[in-house]
Amino acid sequence: MNRVTITRTGAEEILDSRGDPTLKAWVELSNGERASAAVPAGASTGVHEAHELRDGGTRFGGKGELNAVRMVETTISDALNGMDVTDQELIDRRMIDLDGSSDRSKLGANALLGVSLACARAGSLVEKKPLYRYLRDHFSLPEPRVFPKPMCNILNGGRHADNNVSFQEFLVLPEGTTFARQIERAWIVIHALKKMLVERKERTTVGDEGGFAPMLASNEEGLKLIAEAIESSQLKLGKDISIGIDAASSEFYDADRGVYVLKPEQKEYRGEDLVKFYASLVKQYHLRTIEDGCAEDDHELWKKLTAALGKKVLLIGDDFFVTQKERLLQGVHERAANAILIKPNQVGTLTETIDTIATARKAKYACVVSHRSGETNDDFIADLAVAVGSPYLKAGSLTREERLAKYNRLLEIAREVGA
Ligand code: PGA
Ligand code: ZN
Repeated sequence: MNRVTITRTGAEEILDSRGDPTLKAWVELSNGERASAAVPAGASTGVHEAHELRDGGTRFGGKGELNAVRMVETTISDALNGMDVTDQELIDRRMIDLDGSSDRSKLGANALLGVSLACARAGSLVEKKPLYRYLRDHFSLPEPRVFPKPMCNILNGGRHADNNVSFQEFLVLPEGTTFARQIERAWIVIHALKKMLVERKERTTVGDEGGFAPMLASNEEGLKLIAEAIESSQLKLGKDISIGIDAASSEFYDADRGVYVLKPEQKEYRGEDLVKFYASLVKQYHLRTIEDGCAEDDHELWKKLTAALGKKVLLIGDDFFVTQKERLLQGVHERAANAILIKPNQVGTLTETIDTIATARKAKYACVVSHRSGETNDDFIADLAVAVGSPYLKAGSLTREERLAKYNRLLEIAREVGA
């Protein structure tokens, strides 16, 4: 095959689903083709995430990304010019070296990731393969045994909504013989939940990821509502559809006092009491996943939670691992968590993301590919989830185009591969 090289990389500032600036990067190739990718942004970002380069100052309240755009158009463009666009590892390595910092703060993880993903997309065009197939072939990923199921965040709290709920996400995980059937089951429950909220005169406005954002008397009430919505849909909880949560507990952990503060019920949990609380929720609502049940640096409690529930429940580290291999390896060593959330912008490049996934696979930790709360219509993560055999794709509720873009891409791939 003829070598196709990068002739230029460029970027522009666009707006994400919260209306905040983000970055879209593109690469131009020697064969005249061009590919682009847009970068998402979190709200409940972990302190250990790679650095997102923002402009500061007053423009867009300091959130502008013109400096990151400039990095792509000058330093990065000069460095990548002439490289084979399918040399993904080399491209990513060159950008990492060029940045030189430990947290990607010089060029910005947003600049790096935009270019990294755009190159992968360009590579798939050059090799005339669907992106998921290109990724699988390129990184020699094993043929996955599973097709990702939807992990839909149907009730929002925490940093993603203006309600009083402390848990950030209440998720449904539908079963079903096809991906389309699973999506339909999520749809049925979402509509049943909406009907219940209307009947109770609760608000049905949605949070950042498209889930409803009602005011609740307690976090447990969110689980109760969803369990009822499932029951009223003639679906069986724990069989046809399960429930999961992303507590995102770093956001309600009071580090000075060492307590987890749950707002609506005005309860405080310390250490093992929190584990007991989760265990009671698992028992009552058949929770299948708990993400960030403990705060990002509360290793001791992570270990206890894993010892107590690790055999029954997928305990997913998001802020805890931030998609970074070193933090994951520490967790594996400590027997903390048994799954990792995969968000490429937490680490900065595609190669590092795949490296973390390979590390997780070796340790038998499940990898769950995820969107961010601030998203664009870019659907790269859908192909990534298929390529790596992620058991779920976490992409929000079945509303808002930036969430649906990912599920629609999975529907398309499912039709292609018969899933
Ligand atoms: P974030 O939320 O994108 O705001 O970090 C998503 C998550 O915590 O899973
Ligand atoms: Zn999370």
